[in-house]
Amino acid sequence: MELIPYSCQQITDEDIDAVVLALRSEYLTQGPIGPAFEAAFAKRHQVENAVAVSNATAGLHIACLALGVGPDSRVWTSPNTFLASANCALYCGASIDFVDIDPATRNMSIGALATKLELAADSGTLPCVVIPVDFAGLPADLKEIRALADKYGFRILQDASHAAGASYLGAPVGSKYADASVFSFHAVKVVTTAEGGMVTTNDRALARKLELLRAHGMTRETTEMEHAPEGAWYYEQQTLGFNYRLTELQAALGLSQLQRMESLQQQRVVMADRYDQLLADLPLSLPVRQHDRASAWHLYAIEIDADRTQAQRADVFRQMREAKIGVNVHYIPVHWQPYYRRLGFKPGDFPAAEQYYRQAISLPLFPSMTKLQQDRVVSVLRQALVAA
Ligand SMILES: *Cc1c(COP(=O)(O)O)cnc(C)c1O
Repeated sequence: MELIPYSCQQITDEDIDAVVLALRSEYLTQGPIGPAFEAAFAKRHQVENAVAVSNATAGLHIACLALGVGPDSRVWTSPNTFLASANCALYCGASIDFVDIDPATRNMSIGALATKLELAADSGTLPCVVIPVDFAGLPADLKEIRALADKYGFRILQDASHAAGASYLGAPVGSKYADASVFSFHAVKVVTTAEGGMVTTNDRALARKLELLRAHGMTRETTEMEHAPEGAWYYEQQTLGFNYRLTELQAALGLSQLQRMESLQQQRVVMADRYDQLLADLPLSLPVRQHDRASAWHLYAIEIDADRTQAQRADVFRQMREAKIGVNVHYIPVHWQPYYRRLGFKPGDFPAAEQYYRQAISLPLFPSMTKLQQDRVVSVLRQALVAA
């Protein structure tokens, strides 16, 4: 039987033609397609600025820097995320801490955040930046986080790596509430450029900082020069930046994918709705639905409900893998990683994220998945749960 992967990119002939066209063009990097991709992404997400980067990790890194994160800063994120949401703070020499999740949404808990902020205000240890993560594509509670940010004076860097195309309170994710939002175009994500990312913001000055940090901290704009230009060749490095650019080939793929984002999205919604129906009678906690937001459905993550079944997560996972179902687990709590334990974190620090992790399995979900494939996933899962 063929393997059903947990995620799989959808590449059309139009995507291939677009990349070939870029390959035959004058520029392989720093040409016109990058800015066209940025403009199209900004328009689609109803935001003033979009800055393309080589991957979301790079985007998180320079967004932290642009938001003022440095060696004396504190940054907080969710423990239920990919390593990059926390690593980005450490790249800047800052310290990292976590805010536990809401077990229902698996996103950062507003109650836990409010409590932690109150304590931090008392001890003078408030964070400079908080990084909420839109886990599985479900938008985090950005409106409530914005109210807390205004009260306590921190900036919001939204890790929207899972959430391209998601909407929150009637607006696309990445357009409101956060100071900056970062999207990933890694091959498993909702829209792909193989590797790639985008930072969105309504703050033009912040966007300009991101553009400089993306390219060596270097400018060719005469209006920005600190010294009088010596000629047309003249450029200035004004800050320490990086080479975090996206190539024209990647931008061409992204632009092409963006043009069918609605249909990519719709296919995920159909599969997620169908999982909800097919799994309703099983001893599982399914992804929560919130009426005021729409998930991008990057992941369909279930939890085995230990109160209703003897089935062990590891056994169910193994049986599914043996049946060639590409299940996965998102995420091992970041603070459990050996590197993070050496920073002083330990199991027990963020119990809701840990409890979720112990029972979690991500089921295959991708746009070109067939109903037949989905039925096979459900049938193997059902057997594994019933056999226990
Ligand atoms: C994928 C992912 C990233 C990193 O994205 P890259 O583009 O691979 O660097 C960061 N945060 C989250 C939550 C992710 O899922």
